[in-house]
Formats: sequence, C-alpha cells, structure tokens
Amino acid sequence: MIVQTIHEILNPFDVEVDKLGYGVALFLIAGSIHSNPQFIVRMYTTGEMRTVDQNNLRVYGNPSSGEPLSPQTDITPSDVACSNCKCKDMIMEDDSIYCSNCKRYIMSL
Ligand SMILES: [Zn+2]
Repeated sequence: MIVQTIHEILNPFDVEVDKLGYGVALFLIAGSIHSNPQFIVRMYTTGEMRTVDQNNLRVYGNPSSGEPLSPQTDITPSDVACSNCKCKDMIMEDDSIYCSNCKRYIMSL
C-alpha cells in the first residue's frame, strides 16, 4: 500500500529548478522510505505545474531580511553558535561541527 500526503504551502516561496528555471513552490508531497519529498512548482515563464524532487530545487536567501542571497560556503566553526546553549565554542570532528559545551551536532561542512 502506498500512502502519500500532500500539503498546500501556505506561504509559497520562490525556487530555482535545475534546468527548468524559476517558479513558485505551491504544494509539498511528503517523503517516505521510497521517495524524497517532492514539490509541485508553477514555472514562471510557462505556467506549467511540475513535480520536482527536493534535490533539484534551490531556495535563495532574502537579503532584505538580512540573509545572504547564496548559502555561505566557507563556514568555519567560529561562524556558528549553538541554538541550544547559545555558546560559540565549537569543535570540528570528521567534517562536522559540534557544540563543545553541550556536544550538540550543529552542521556538516
Ligand atoms: Zn551547545
């Protein structure tokens, strides 16, 4: 039996779809053990509705709200803080950053 859940995105957001261009993500099809989450995207230039795997989407930051347009790719442990204990002392192990205080996983590089 296949059970799939689809969610309407209440705050649709702009996306770039690999090889297709720009659109707006309107629905999310929840992932499962067999599939990544999929997004149903309305393409801006054609109006087509395309179902797109999450791995084929880019979502850019909003510079007007202080986010960089593109992801920061040269992050070092000194650039991040722990959302759990708020400390900024990080340790790096196996290309991953952990909080040195509470040992919480922060991110992979
Ligand atoms: Zn911490």
